[in-house]
Amino acid sequence: MEMKRPEHVILTSHSNHVYRETTPIHWGAKTAKERGPIIATHSEHRNAIGTHAGSYTVYRALSVASGQFPRNHRPDLANTTATVELGPYDSWFDNNIVSLDPWGARITESYDDLLKQNYNIQPSIAVTSAHLQIPEISKSIEEGKIKVDGKVVVQKNDIKVTKAAIEPVWYLPGIAKRLELEEGVLRKILFQETGGMFPELVTRPDLKVLLPPIGSTTAYIFGNPEDLANPEVELTCRVHDECNGSDVFGSDICTCRPYLMHGIEEAVKTAQKGGVGLIVYFRKEGRALGEVTKYLVYNARKRQEGGDSASTYFYRTECVAGVQDARFQELMPDALLWLGIKKIHNLMSMSDMKYNAITRSGIEVVNRVDIPQHLVPLDAQVEIEAKKAAGYYTSGDVKDGETLDNVKGRNLHD
Ligand SMILES: [Zn+2]
Repeated sequence: MEMKRPEHVILTSHSNHVYRETTPIHWGAKTAKERGPIIATHSEHRNAIGTHAGSYTVYRALSVASGQFPRNHRPDLANTTATVELGPYDSWFDNNIVSLDPWGARITESYDDLLKQNYNIQPSIAVTSAHLQIPEISKSIEEGKIKVDGKVVVQKNDIKVTKAAIEPVWYLPGIAKRLELEEGVLRKILFQETGGMFPELVTRPDLKVLLPPIGSTTAYIFGNPEDLANPEVELTCRVHDECNGSDVFGSDICTCRPYLMHGIEEAVKTAQKGGVGLIVYFRKEGRALGEVTKYLVYNARKRQEGGDSASTYFYRTECVAGVQDARFQELMPDALLWLGIKKIHNLMSMSDMKYNAITRSGIEVVNRVDIPQHLVPLDAQVEIEAKKAAGYYTSGDVKDGETLDNVKGRNLHD
């Protein structure tokens, strides 16, 4: 395909030159119409900074650059609508949600008139249904811990699930407020720390919405998704941050996959009892510090004098990364609020940061469920004991002093 590209670059810094035809965004409004569409595509209608597809936007740029992807492509949205309609819920209004677009799955029904007028408005949320086949869960089914009920677990190993993919859509004044920052300071630092990726952050204070180039979030729902919003229906939930090493490849240095699988098993059981189960999976690899930093920390932990120890677990991360954690759990509850959740009966997480963020968002948590000790890999004892000592929830003992020092991990070359 031959490329026809303009040779000049149009900067979007001056409001009198671009985005003249835009529609306003009234974030937190009670209807999609009143709120107005988020338009983050190439067009004169654009009213948001950034682009769709999070970090994959860079791959799309490569496709465009190499001539494979027509820059003016408009998605054909026929038959793409959600398999279940969720909301609108009260939690969608009044800026309770600031890091995703609650109307993001309802583009065709909400903005049909504008789509017909050639506005390039794209969904930022998609909802579909699927079957899961997971070795650990299949084993639990074979052992009779989970029954084939023909509703949640169908056939031999198949678990029915509704899943939603959610792109980040940030309402910058709301994000600033959540983090207790001035919006201007937030915008300036976002601009500086991304190497100046989005000049509009500093030149266009009138544009309040940013689609940042970061990973998305996926919700896996077992049982009836509409029941998530009913506090009378038992809800078992795990909010899980990505750990590729453990989740996908079975690395034994942490508890991520075992806890995730335990979360899925309990979520399925709750759904089978007439409740609802939920796993929300956030792409925040290595405490949102990235996998390179994570592996550097592993080496530093295991090579330090005295070997890998629970008592120096957080210290080693901070030495390498400059911070213990960069996940900003303050934004995490938005996914729960989008699903209309008011009450979590069983929270499958020991993290005090997650618990505090969820309860601060107004969601009630009844029980906190820690990972059963027999699911913790031997080498992950360092992580779990360090976390318990640092204030993570546990129904068991908390080690300190010498007993914490004595929780040791494997050597690097064993
Ligand atoms: Zn992990």
